[in-house]
Order: sequence, then structure tokens, then C-alpha cells
Amino acid sequence: MVALGRGVTTVVVKGVPVDVCGNCGEYYLSEEMADRVLAMAEEAVAHSAEIEMLRCAA
Ligand SMILES: [Zn+2]
Repeated sequence: MVALGRGVTTVVVKGVPVDVCGNCGEYYLSEEMADRVLAMAEEAVAHSAEIEMLRCAA
């Protein structure tokens, strides 16, 4: 699950394939997934959603 905020909008995206670093345990996204998540966030911001829960179709 990835959550990000932009102004008053919070976007939660479930089902995002993330890689977890074996050293520090932080997760990171591939460039393609990061682009996709950001595009979904922009859309939520565009229609002034306060909380948007989405599922990644990847
Ligand atoms: Zn690391």
C-alpha cells in the first residue's frame, strides 16, 4: 500500500507492487509504478478528493 498527500488530498493506492530494501526495510517503487501512482494522485487532486482509495490494476 502506498499513501501520499498533496494539499488537502490524500491518496491511498492498494496493490502496488513495491520492492523492499533488504538493508533498511524501506520500500521503493519502480519508475513505471511511481509514474502510475503519481498520475492517479494528480487525478484525485484534480477532482478535489479529500481521501481517495484506489487499487492498482498492475
Ligand atoms: Zn536501503
